[in-house]
Amino acid sequence: MAEARGAGEVTVRSFTGGVFAENTYLVACARTGAGILVDPGAAAAEAVAAARAAGVAIEKIVLTHAHLDHVEGIPAARRALPDAPVLLHPADRQLYEAAPLQAQMFGVPLQPLPPVDGELVVGEAVRFGDCALQIRFAPGHAPGHVILVGDGVALVGDVIFAGSIGRTDLPGGDFATLMRSIREQVLTLPDETTLHTGHGPDTTVRHERVSNPFVTGVYGGGGFA
Ligand SMILES: [Zn+2]
Ligand SMILES: [Zn+2]
Repeated sequence: MAEARGAGEVTVRSFTGGVFAENTYLVACARTGAGILVDPGAAAAEAVAAARAAGVAIEKIVLTHAHLDHVEGIPAARRALPDAPVLLHPADRQLYEAAPLQAQMFGVPLQPLPPVDGELVVGEAVRFGDCALQIRFAPGHAPGHVILVGDGVALVGDVIFAGSIGRTDLPGGDFATLMRSIREQVLTLPDETTLHTGHGPDTTVRHERVSNPFVTGVYGGGGFA
C-alpha cells in the first residue's frame, strides 16, 4: 500500500493514567507539527497539555477500539479540541455506545461521550501533516479493533503487549480471532517495528516473536488452531 505511506517522520509520546494504567498516545508529524490523539484515556488532559506545550496541533481523535479505558478521556480532550473529529471502526460502534454501561460495570465515573464523527476504513490511512498511518483490521480483543502502522511504528492498542496479549473474555472478544490478527497484522510487520501498546511498555515485533509466550506456543498460541 505505497499510497498509504506518509513522507514525514512520526514521533510518538505516551501518557499513562487511571485505574487501568492505559496509555494515551500523542502522535506528531515532526516537520509539520500536525498531530493525532490516539486512545484518550485517563491521561488525555495531560497529553493535550503536552501537545500544546510542544506546539503540536491535534487534528483528530483516533480510537483503536472502544473499551472504556481507551475512551474515558474523550470528554476532556473534546473540550480542549472542539474541532477534532472522533474516529472509530464501525464494528466497535456498539461498544462505544455502551460506554456508560462499561463504566457502570467497572465502577468508574464517565462523562457523556460525544457521538463518533467518522469511520476508520481498513486499508486507508489516517493522515496528519505529511504523515500517514495505515489502518489495519485486528479484531479479537474487540470486534472493531484496528491498529495504526507507519514509519517504523505501530500503535497496537490491546492486541498485543510486551510478553502478553489482549484479553478475549469481554463481549465481542474471541481468542482464535485475536491470534489470527496477531499473526497476520502484527507479526508480518518488519522485525524492528516499535509496538506502542495500550498498556505497559513499548516493545518490538522481533521481541514478541521470539519471547511472547502466547506467540511462541507456550500457551497454545503457536499453532493458531
Ligand atoms: Zn481493550
Ligand atoms: Zn485497554
